Amino acid sequence: MTNKYSITLLSGDGIGPEIMAVTVKVLKVVAQQCDLEFDFQEALIGGVAIDATGNPLPSETVEMCRQSDSVLLAAIGGYKWDNLPREQRPETGLLGIRAALGLFANLRPATILPQLIDASSLKKEVVEGVDIMVVRELTGGIYFGQPKGIFTTETGEKRGVNTMVYSESEIDRIARVAFETAQKRQKRLCSVDKANVLDVSQLWRDRVIKMSEEYPDVELTHMYVDNAAMQLVRNPKQFDTIVTGNLFGDILSDAAAMLTGSIGMLPSASLGSDRPGLFEPVHGSAPDIAGQNKANPLAQVLSAAMMLRYGLNEPVAANKIESAVLKVLDLGYRTGDIMSEGCQPVGCREIGEILLEVLQS
Ligand code: NAD
Repeated sequence: MTNKYSITLLSGDGIGPEIMAVTVKVLKVVAQQCDLEFDFQEALIGGVAIDATGNPLPSETVEMCRQSDSVLLAAIGGYKWDNLPREQRPETGLLGIRAALGLFANLRPATILPQLIDASSLKKEVVEGVDIMVVRELTGGIYFGQPKGIFTTETGEKRGVNTMVYSESEIDRIARVAFETAQKRQKRLCSVDKANVLDVSQLWRDRVIKMSEEYPDVELTHMYVDNAAMQLVRNPKQFDTIVTGNLFGDILSDAAAMLTGSIGMLPSASLGSDRPGLFEPVHGSAPDIAGQNKANPLAQVLSAAMMLRYGLNEPVAANKIESAVLKVLDLGYRTGDIMSEGCQPVGCREIGEILLEVLQS
């Protein structure tokens, strides 16, 4: 039986349309091979939406995303819109769609591809074989907790306040995503907190332990965030899946991602309670190379693979895409951002064509 999915495409700005074009071709080929059917529909977000409608997130876009099974986003932003007031800026569209879809879980893999090992700033023997997934809570914690603000005390001194707060239900839902993610990987989950100092972290730890009773096949460990930061650069291979709160996850996911050293290769997934999830590369719209056929489309293509694995539960199709990307790198083709000696330089379109050939071979 053919599984059918409607997918909203948000190409956005800068290199967005170029990398999205490659990705849609890849998805069409994989659909044929895996007996899937994708109904693609385009919607506006970011700068292009501002130009067309005056709004970085038109209500039709939100509606279309909500109605679809999954949302694939490229990137937003560019010099042209940098000086608009905050509510009219492209970034407001991005934050808006994340909020509208209730995306509370952010998944960011940091996988060292053997072909790109020299791009890492760490020694080869430290990073070889690293394959980490950071699951970050995205809509709670200290970034949103009340009270927050800068207040003036009775003595006239100013005080800045933020509040780190998590309720049981917020912890439970991110823990569930993390356990289920670990189940699809090596079944090892490390929960990162600061339970030796913070009460909110103690509650976090208690709830994660409680949730682990439902996932006896996943090995659960705990680590304080300061140690986790150290271990990520000392011995990153020890980690499989990491789950943590918003602030700690913000920092650790960037550190983990940079173990790989190549921004044009990093996908991400954001999930809510119900579908659709939103899948996007970690990088931005790269206005400096937009329209020049220089962009690396592989982070976008790998985001589509994450969509298939974590959004649509189609792991066979996801595996096909990921294997094809590795094969293209094995063959020595590289865009400028990941170029190294002895490799063959190619543009965005060309690496896309090679990827399609590999998929079909
Ligand atoms: P950026 O990620 O767009 O670019 C940083 C550097 O990496 C640039 O030199 C760029 O050419 C290069 N780069 C990025 N992606 C690449 C790719 N796929 N292939 C080859 N090279 C690539 O970050 P920035 O320059 O800080 O921001 C540019 C614009 O993107 C800004 O308007 C910013 O607000 C926006 N932005 C959007 C997102 C998003 O849509 N999620 C994320 C970050 C930045």
